[in-house]
Amino acid sequence: MPRIVVGNWKMHKTAAQTAAFLDVFLPQVTALPPAIEVVLAPPFTAIPEAARRLHGTRVRLGAQTMHWELEGAFTGEISAPMLLELGVTHVILGHSERRALFNETDHAVNLKVHTALEQGLTPIIALGETLAERKAGTTDDRVVAQSHAALKGVSGDALRRVIIAYEPIWAIGTGENCDPGEADRVMGTIRASRTELADTPILYGGSMTPSNVGAYAERPNVNGGLVGGASLDPEGFARLIANAVRS
Ligand code: PEP
Repeated sequence: MPRIVVGNWKMHKTAAQTAAFLDVFLPQVTALPPAIEVVLAPPFTAIPEAARRLHGTRVRLGAQTMHWELEGAFTGEISAPMLLELGVTHVILGHSERRALFNETDHAVNLKVHTALEQGLTPIIALGETLAERKAGTTDDRVVAQSHAALKGVSGDALRRVIIAYEPIWAIGTGENCDPGEADRVMGTIRASRTELADTPILYGGSMTPSNVGAYAERPNVNGGLVGGASLDPEGFARLIANAVRS
């Protein structure tokens, strides 16, 4: 299974800043080995600029969310066909910031996963426990429930096109990354919760950096990373990718 590294830029970088990032980043990732896949998820407004620059490279283009309907009266929303037209191949769904700040429910995530798969986008389903859930000892129950809810009604071939990202919420953007052994254990629990997830790529997310990526990449249940803050600097992100390949 290839290692997958996804950069989630959140609400960072204009189109001009995206161009400046890629001027530095792309020359450093020209010789990616086949065993690694890199996805960049800029804000919607920077996607056309990113698409132009990424054309012909091995770096794929992701979006950070989308609506489950294909069109309609949903002010401010973006649909799968709109993303596909721009060359987007992946979409992050259910990020904890979408869940906490924009009321995205497990049901909405499930609807989006179905639409993404039907439309030919690869869903990257983010899930993870809060600090209170971890302290209460309910981490495993929480992530398995989120995974089941997101994948309800998804089976067979479609299930093989899904990527899961385990992101403990307390580790996102805090500099307090989850211990790699513990992350691997939780990810193994998610994998074991449904037999068809045996070959599903599961990524770790939460304060991943160029210096700690190696400790995750060598774990059996970790198939890569979903990277926020450390994906914003072109040299640092290229170094993180190189270290993920090396481990
Ligand atoms: C994220 O946004 O998915 C994330 C993991 O952020 P960070 O790497 O900054 O913790």
